Amino acid sequence: MQTGQDIEDLRILLVDDDPRTLRLLSFLLEAIGVSETYTAGDGYEALSYLDNVPDRPDVILTDLNMPGLDGVEFLRHLSMRSIASRIVLISGENKRILDTAKTLAQVHDLSFIGTLQKPITQKALSEILRQCLAFGAQIRRRNSGPITEQELVDGLINRDGEPLRTVYQPTVSMKTGAPIGVEALVRWTHAKSGVLGPMSFIPLAERLGHTKFLTDVVTRRVMSEAAFWRSNGLDLRVSINLSVTVLKCLDLPEFVVATAESTGLDPSKLTLEITESHLMRDFKESLETLARLRLKGVWLSIDDFGTGYSSMEQLKRVPFNEVKIDRCFVTGAAQDVETRAILESSIELGQRLGLVVVAEGVESREDWDLLESLGCDVAQGYFISRPLEAEALPGWVRSWNTAGLPSA
Ligand code: C2E
Ligand code: CA
Ligand code: CA
Repeated sequence: MQTGQDIEDLRILLVDDDPRTLRLLSFLLEAIGVSETYTAGDGYEALSYLDNVPDRPDVILTDLNMPGLDGVEFLRHLSMRSIASRIVLISGENKRILDTAKTLAQVHDLSFIGTLQKPITQKALSEILRQCLAFGAQIRRRNSGPITEQELVDGLINRDGEPLRTVYQPTVSMKTGAPIGVEALVRWTHAKSGVLGPMSFIPLAERLGHTKFLTDVVTRRVMSEAAFWRSNGLDLRVSINLSVTVLKCLDLPEFVVATAESTGLDPSKLTLEITESHLMRDFKESLETLARLRLKGVWLSIDDFGTGYSSMEQLKRVPFNEVKIDRCFVTGAAQDVETRAILESSIELGQRLGLVVVAEGVESREDWDLLESLGCDVAQGYFISRPLEAEALPGWVRSWNTAGLPSA
């Protein structure tokens, strides 16, 4: 959004499963003078639009109650893609649900502007768009589009993943305070845009069917860096994030285990993290690969727990070792009664299922103290450490072991 912009210049994405609401909103926007309006009938369609346009819309008007990807999940996906478009929720829901969605949008660091109550009037719509404009021009900075298909294919396949880098975020035991592992997080070094986070290119790699290349590069790199820490005397568990689409590759278990063993890593010290909501969507196809990975000793973790449609029956059937509670239920949980309730029951459920419970997004001493009192096993987050370069890890572990937990 440029400074000096008027309401008419706004580019707006409308997301609603009700065609009548989409038609009404398009009509009202036209009456207000807005000419660039895009519509999506559900969250998946909206994400695919956002992943494929070079310039994100200025404003996203989204329904909360949609089949498929619901509004709350959609907000999380927007956050993962660092989307800075201003967000307005449309809803006929009661105030309590809207308040919760608003809290989630804020926890996810989205530019939340307000809500538009049904029935929608032209006056209310103009007013909220004016608030969007007033929000300031600083947002565009974060809102550049993802890398192009050509750049992705070139970097990932022709150059064997050369633009990819992995950073490592430590996890520590809440019982002993000792460092126990690291999670590998991938980055893309882009010639023009600098270092890009995973959400700038992973959704594109998934859509183009290139996640096997990504997994191969990341796995090989992580294993060789893990060999470097071991040579420095560090025996850390290593976690890698997997795109669920890669679970369709039947040779994945052999590849992962062979790579681990060739670098001297015991497969039982390797954890693969899979996002819960994605897993449940492609459950049947994933189950065989997951079972074979477990048979080979690799650990499995349910990532972003609490944000998807987890079916208890399916959770029971997958031989998971670990559950990672999504950071939107962890960061600042002590200050919010409802978030805290979800956190408490997620920890209890994980432990009842016999899983190691990891909390991600631990940002303060308060978050840590609450998790400790709730009996959480493992913590990860900025309070402990930001993601680090591989070479920085041995030094971090030494200073953590000397200084221990930060005081604030
Ligand atoms: P995730 O697995 O949930 O990873 C945690 C994300 O939260 C990371 O962002 C991390 O930098 C960030 N984070 C860690 N501690 C804190 C904290 O205390 N506060 C806050 N606000 N954030 C924190 P990142 O690196 O941008 O990764 C985003 C997502 O990208 C990951 O979410 C994961 O789903 C995906 N991803 C990362 N690496 C890979 C990969 O190699 N393959 C695949 N398929 N996905 C990956
Ligand atoms: Ca993860
Ligand atoms: Ca996560």
